[in-house]
Order: sequence, then structure tokens, then C-alpha cells
Amino acid sequence: MNDLYDRHRAVLPDWLALYYEDPIEITHGEGRHVWDSAGRRYLDFFGGILTTMTAHALPEVTKAVSEQAGRIIHSSTLYLNRPMVELAERIAQLSGIPDARVFFTTSGTEANDTALLLATAYRRSNTVLAMRNSYHGRSFSTVGITGNRSWSPSSLSPLQTLYVHGGVRTRGPFAHLDDAAFIVACVEDLKDLLGHTRPPAALIAEPVQGVGGFTSPPDGLYAAFRDVLREHGILWIADEVQTGWGRTGEHFWGWQAHGRSGPPDLLTFAKGIGNGMSIGGVVAGAEIMNCLDANSISTFGGTQITMAAGLANLNYLLEHDLQGNARRVGGLLIERLRAVAAGLPGVREVRGRGLMIGVELARPGTDEADPKAAAAVLEAAREGGLLIGKGGGHNTSALRIAPPLSLTVAEAEEGAAVLENALRAAY
Ligand code: PMP
Repeated sequence: MNDLYDRHRAVLPDWLALYYEDPIEITHGEGRHVWDSAGRRYLDFFGGILTTMTAHALPEVTKAVSEQAGRIIHSSTLYLNRPMVELAERIAQLSGIPDARVFFTTSGTEANDTALLLATAYRRSNTVLAMRNSYHGRSFSTVGITGNRSWSPSSLSPLQTLYVHGGVRTRGPFAHLDDAAFIVACVEDLKDLLGHTRPPAALIAEPVQGVGGFTSPPDGLYAAFRDVLREHGILWIADEVQTGWGRTGEHFWGWQAHGRSGPPDLLTFAKGIGNGMSIGGVVAGAEIMNCLDANSISTFGGTQITMAAGLANLNYLLEHDLQGNARRVGGLLIERLRAVAAGLPGVREVRGRGLMIGVELARPGTDEADPKAAAAVLEAAREGGLLIGKGGGHNTSALRIAPPLSLTVAEAEEGAAVLENALRAAY
């Protein structure tokens, strides 16, 4: 039936994750909508897995990309590159990191790899602290610091990794504690780990876990961790690949929810900034960034064409206050979904910030994850014309909602209605 799917399976790896029993091919998009090869239109509540930060086929980005393509696409990083310098200046200033330097890569994986390269070189240690249930990429080193076991195939990681509690608030041994006691328990866990290891280079953490199911620790957890880390000289790498650029509404960066901690030592970004063009990168203060004692480049990191897209996209985001839009529209959507959830026994929790909303499912009357229901809701939503994502721990049981940040109130209501029907059909 699905010829492209047959060809896909014949030539691509089995582990290349695909959604839907009958996977769809997206052929074009506009605003918050995409169309598949059968001509069906979908409201996109997963933002091309958060890569479409502003809107699909945003005219400002299309224009910048086509104008740049007509001049030059890539001149290599061995020559001065004006759009790269311009975007680096903007990101350095937005990052909050003093005396910041920016290195561009082509993906979040490579951004985190670079952050690990810097942190381990700076600290002369290959021990790294990471969070349970985290996701940081698919390369040799980033798989080794990915706590979410369903995304970290067994590999002989070059790093020694120790996993810390705290990324997931509502499951695990500390779930029954109130926020303050939860933080104390996680800090004790961290101190305990530090007592039994060589001094680690860094703690890497997503301020809100993305692949892990859009789970947030209580505000202040990373500030409390930071006090301990600083005593030992351990760096904090904030992986803002999903949480950056105002997605969480209240804040431009996820780390700002832990304000007292100040900016991280290193910050990694990717996904949304290019609106689909491959931009990733790492920001760090000059001392850390410049600690490498040999040349290092990324051939495709910072190509003129991706930088042109990033600049146009960032300008649009700031000029149209899409962070504020994420706060307002996301707030309404969370409220609406909480009202829906109140009548459904299988919805354990609706959580989130801005336009990063998780809906945790459980077998009714129990606390057990319900991956079957999550898969069924995903299918039913697609049939109703809505694309959403899923995530969570080994038993993928959370729905993930992360539309482009320009989502309108009417679209939020339309999507919520489809999701309500899909959830009612599942329970
Ligand atoms: N960090 C986080 C938090 C992510 O969510 C992802 C991608 N899901 C990555 C890193 C890796 O990014 P990429 O897929 O661009 O390599």
C-alpha cells in the first residue's frame, strides 16, 4: 500500500524511529499547518519536532535563504563569514553568559559533543554528571550521557557518566515529596555521587526534559545543584536544544526558571533557531571556549545560508514577541487540556510551560505508564488532522505538544478539541 514506506524499510536502519502504523510523508507546510502526500492537511502541534520555531514556510526566512542561495551557500569557515559573526553577536548577547563566545555546529548532538569536548578539556576529567531520563543526542559521546534508556543503545561510551535524580518530578523515589523536600533529596543524591567519584568535568541537564516527556523539576533545583557544583569547580552545561528561544513562555531560556543559579557555564542550542535549517551551537565564556590547544572547525557549522535563515528567524521571533505568544496561548492551552483531563481517568497529569506541554497517560486507576494508549491517541489525533509527539521514559507514555511559537488562540482551541476526542476514544 505504502510504497515509500516499503522502500524506506528496505534501505534505512530499523532503529530510525517513525511515527504511525502507516507513516506519512509531509510534502509542504504553511504557518502552523503541514500537508501530506495524500493531500491531507494537519495542524502541527509538534513543530517539525520543535525545529519550526516561528512558522512553516515563513516568508521572511524563505526570502533570506533564497537571496543568500543566489549569492553563496557556503564558503567554508576558513574565511570571514558576515552572517555567522552577526548571528553569534546576537546569541552571545541573548545568552546571558559574560564575555560569551559562540561556536556553530549542524545539530544538537554535535553541539553537546562540543560542550563535552570543552568541559572535559577545561577540567581535565572525563567523568560527567547527567540526569536520569535525559536525552542529549545520538553520537558516541552523547549516547553515553543520555539517561533515557530507550534512546541510548548499549555502546562503550568514552565518558564515565553518573546519573543524578531530579529531572522527573512525578515519578521515581522522590515523587511523594513536596517541592522543597524533593530538591533537598536530589541535592543529597548529588552530594552522595560526588563523594564516590573522581571530580567530574560537568553536569549536563535539560532545564525541561524534552524527549523524556516535557518534565520539569521544581524551579530552583538547578540553583541548588549549582551551589554544590561551584564548591567543586564543576561546570554546568544547560542543554537548551528544546527549551531555548522563548518556548517555555515565561523565560527566553529554560535555565532562567532557576534564576538564582545565574547563567550556565556552557549553553547548547539547535532545533528551532534555523526554522528547519541545520544550526546547532554552543555558547561559553571566553576562558572555557578558548581552552582548546589545537585548531577545531565544523565544515558545515555556520554556513552562510543557515546563518541567514537563523538571523531572519530570530528577528521575526523578537519583533513579534513570540515568547509572549507562547506564554499567553500556551497558558490557555494548558488550562483547556487540564479541564479535559479532569474528566478522564487515564490522564495522570497535564504539565508544561508555554508551548511545551506534556500530557502523561497512565492505566486508569493505576500509576502505571500506558504506552499503548499514547500510541492510540497519536493515531486518533492524526486521523482528526492533528500531529502531536510522544515521549517519556522507557514506557513512552506522555504526549508531547510543541507547536510553532506563532500558534493562534483559534488554532490552540481547534487542536485541543481534536486531542480531546482522541483522548476520549482511548479511554
Ligand atoms: N539535546 C536535546 C535536549 C534534544 O532534544 C535533542 C534532539 N531531540 C538533541 C540534543 C540532539 O539534537 P539533534 O537531533 O539535532 O542532534
